Amino acid sequence: MDRPTPIWASSEGTDVGPVLAKPQFATTEALRTHRKRTLVTAYRLFGALGWGSLGDGHITARDPERIDAMWLIRYGVPFHRTTMSDLVLVGPDGRVEGDHPINMTAYFIHAPVHEARPEVVAVAHTHTPYATPWAANVELFRMICQEATAFFEDHAVFDGEEVQVSDFDTGKRIAAALGETKAVLLRNHGPLTVGGSVEEAIGWFLLLERVAEVHVKAHRARPISDEAASVAASEIAHVSNALNAFDYAVMSRLQPRI
Ligand SMILES: [Zn+2]
Repeated sequence: MDRPTPIWASSEGTDVGPVLAKPQFATTEALRTHRKRTLVTAYRLFGALGWGSLGDGHITARDPERIDAMWLIRYGVPFHRTTMSDLVLVGPDGRVEGDHPINMTAYFIHAPVHEARPEVVAVAHTHTPYATPWAANVELFRMICQEATAFFEDHAVFDGEEVQVSDFDTGKRIAAALGETKAVLLRNHGPLTVGGSVEEAIGWFLLLERVAEVHVKAHRARPISDEAASVAASEIAHVSNALNAFDYAVMSRLQPRI
């Protein structure tokens, strides 16, 4: 028997099979509401994982109508307590609708990524227990675990020393380092992932953190061959894997409804 489709179990524009149903949106407003609800779920999930507990990190989602604007949590709200009313719309010039305070670093990092990658709906970044230490090595991942193959030839390193991003130009250089990949490791800082939906960006982020954990813990790891990694990547790097990761993490860590 099929289990009910949770409100978060969905992807925009991706056919991912029976577990993760593709929702239909009759109106732009319905799509906007879906994105915002999923964004709230994403913030709460990060909070449940203990991420962002020092005020670090941010997740953004592109507005479906004002496509040069992004939804972001307002300043000062703990991730685990995020509600729909805590989300604010940030324009391409950094202006916030309703004049709410925001973490400007979120604007400086995320807005240039949204600008450079029009197909990207969501961008996620925070300082995690394993990807941040790994990012201090300023090295790409090696293919030393199953989840690593999700990022086979599909992630990058930003080698800038700006650990505090305080201008738009640095964000543009981060976007340039990301290129067309799904993730970038910000040197001495932390991870950033993107996706065609909030669910996808967060799913990659969760998988990336697991990959980083293996890298930090497995000191004598021996990678699999590029050939084997390529074979595994054909499934592990598929968007459905990210959506599954998001779905299971929400079911494991959060109450089912916002
Ligand atoms: Zn950061």
